[in-house]
Amino acid sequence: LSEKLDKALHVLKGHGSITEVNVAETLKEVRRALLDADVNFKIAKEFTNTVKEKALGQNVLTTLQPSQLMVKIVKDELTELMGGDAEGIDLSGDPSVILMSGLQGSGKTTFSGKLANYLKNKKTKKPLLVACDVYRPAAIDQLHVVGDQINVEVFSDKGNNDPVAIAKAGIAHAKANGFNVVIIDTAGRLAVDEAMMTEISNIHEAIEPQETLFVVDSMTGQDAVNTAKAFNDILNFDGVILTKLDGDTRGGAAISIKSVVDKPIKFIGTGEKMEAIDVFYPSRMADRILGMGDVVSLVERAQDQYDEEEARKLQKKIAKNQFGFDDFLKQIQQIKKMGNMKDLIGMIPGASKMMKGIDIDDDAFKGIEAIIHSMTPEERTNPSVINASRKKRIAKGSGTSVQEINQLLKQFTQMSKMMKMMQGGGGKRMMQMMKN
Ligand code: GDP
Ligand code: MG
Repeated sequence: LSEKLDKALHVLKGHGSITEVNVAETLKEVRRALLDADVNFKIAKEFTNTVKEKALGQNVLTTLQPSQLMVKIVKDELTELMGGDAEGIDLSGDPSVILMSGLQGSGKTTFSGKLANYLKNKKTKKPLLVACDVYRPAAIDQLHVVGDQINVEVFSDKGNNDPVAIAKAGIAHAKANGFNVVIIDTAGRLAVDEAMMTEISNIHEAIEPQETLFVVDSMTGQDAVNTAKAFNDILNFDGVILTKLDGDTRGGAAISIKSVVDKPIKFIGTGEKMEAIDVFYPSRMADRILGMGDVVSLVERAQDQYDEEEARKLQKKIAKNQFGFDDFLKQIQQIKKMGNMKDLIGMIPGASKMMKGIDIDDDAFKGIEAIIHSMTPEERTNPSVINASRKKRIAKGSGTSVQEINQLLKQFTQMSKMMKMMQGGGGKRMMQMMKN
């Protein structure tokens, strides 16, 4: 989508003012782009009509270039369409019960884990996961694997094939054991059918959750809209979770679903890892759709992952000039924890374009890690002792070349210098600036 829009907006470049002609031309492209992203035809048409009215009504005597102005109008309108301000989830109950719904494979189980982990990290929340997918024994095991990964208890009852009873027992277990959030993972089917709808609506009626979330795979495009409508008709759900936004970003689903069911999109899933969850911000999604990247989410995710304790220790070390390769290694591990490298790069404006065709994966740091592992503790804490013969030994041990060692040492020196510069609030200020 973003590539198409880039092209569309490009049409406007070089024109001195917004005129009927170039607006029409641009909007034709914008509409085509939206349709390509599986946005419903009617919605796309309404959208471009609104943009057109706004664009032509604009005073061209502004400081913005016509193309910038157009981007702004398209962006504002997209944001509006996707729901204005970000909305949270209702955690007022004791325990607050959150019910997951959606088709099989949409990402319910994965998202249940991500949400539990997200809430657990908020410190005041103690979540319990409840396994109500009774059709496949593997489904229960899957939730247990997820629970183990994030250190969250999973309530299940393998012999029992009554999801309503399990959900109730899970909530009772939570009450008796001091859990204040209960996340209920349910079964889905490959397509909407009556049995599934009856089952989820029975669970819904029996437990009266604070939040009923509809989980949908963002790659399913137009189908997502029909599914969302079917579930909403039965459950009148509270919010939408858009998963798999890490792949070929199809913002289209976000736009269509929101306009068809008029329910807020609350979170997005951006990968298979438990950390790959973000609050949905319509304006950031609009930026993303428009190819501006998503710096704000990236910065927030980085901050979230970053253990404050570690940060303080690190600052002390930097101040005392004790920053070494072991710390560097820790930094790399922090970066890796944030998620898949491709996701991260996709959030930096312009970077995905630059990186096109270059294969970046989680192995990107492998060479660096190998080199550091081949260093002695002394070399790691005091890299200045690394002379020519040591370099040769390290290169041999790590299966790299002296040239690569030199490169790493240079990068390391630069990084240490930069970190020293960012001390004293400079770094914080930069983060703040990026946030605003
Ligand atoms: P469920 O049947 O609704 O419970 O779906 P699952 O949680 O089992 O997910 C189905 C598949 O999608 C699994 O292979 C997940 O790893 C994968 N998946 C879930 N969420 C995401 C996401 O945000 N990004 C990507 N790339 N994969 C995801
Ligand atoms: Mg599942």
